Amino acid sequence: MLRIGLTGGIGSGKSTVEALFRELGVPVLDADQVARELVAPGSELFDRIREHFGESILAPDGELDRARLRRRVFANPGERRWLEALLHPEVRARMAAWAEAQLHPYVVLSIPLLFESGMQDLVDRILVVVCDPQTRIRRVCRRDGIPPEEVEAMLRSQWTDEKRRSLADDVIENQGDLEALRREVERLHRRYLTLAGAR
Ligand code: ADP
Repeated sequence: MLRIGLTGGIGSGKSTVEALFRELGVPVLDADQVARELVAPGSELFDRIREHFGESILAPDGELDRARLRRRVFANPGERRWLEALLHPEVRARMAAWAEAQLHPYVVLSIPLLFESGMQDLVDRILVVVCDPQTRIRRVCRRDGIPPEEVEAMLRSQWTDEKRRSLADDVIENQGDLEALRREVERLHRRYLTLAGAR
């Protein structure tokens, strides 16, 4: 079993790449999705987060307001560390167990903050999606309907593409159109099948 860690900055195209791998029948697990499930109402982590941050962190439907939580910890490194110490060990354990249970020759673990959270050891190879900041900002503003300044601030808090690239085994350049992206994913798919077969 070959474990591919997929990462990249906000708006680089990770979710789109995930979807393309899924279309090829590859099992894909998204760390954000795992985190969302872990903090669902009624879970132990949900209770701990509510106790820590108070009721103001809940949305009207009783779920965690994750956007508000994100903003809150974004502005406060101490709070961010508290939240990460709570979530990361559990996210790691779930991802490792999931990968172990898959039967496909290779799997994709999509981990947006792979480097920032030091999760490199969960995977055998690292695939980084890169795209220039202007294009990413434009795409995220359109996707999320938020102002460019907000995207720029998130971009500044993350690693640069240059730094990610230096630690990548494989890189996808996502400057082109969706067809070009699909071709890149298909190329890597063939490569990963070959690599998995050789193990
Ligand atoms: P991420 O998951 O890395 O934040 P997404 O995959 O959501 O990024 O991509 C950001 C936005 O840009 C999405 O709305 C997506 O549909 C769009 N997008 C991604 N890649 C391309 C591309 N090659 N051409 C046009 N739009 C794209």
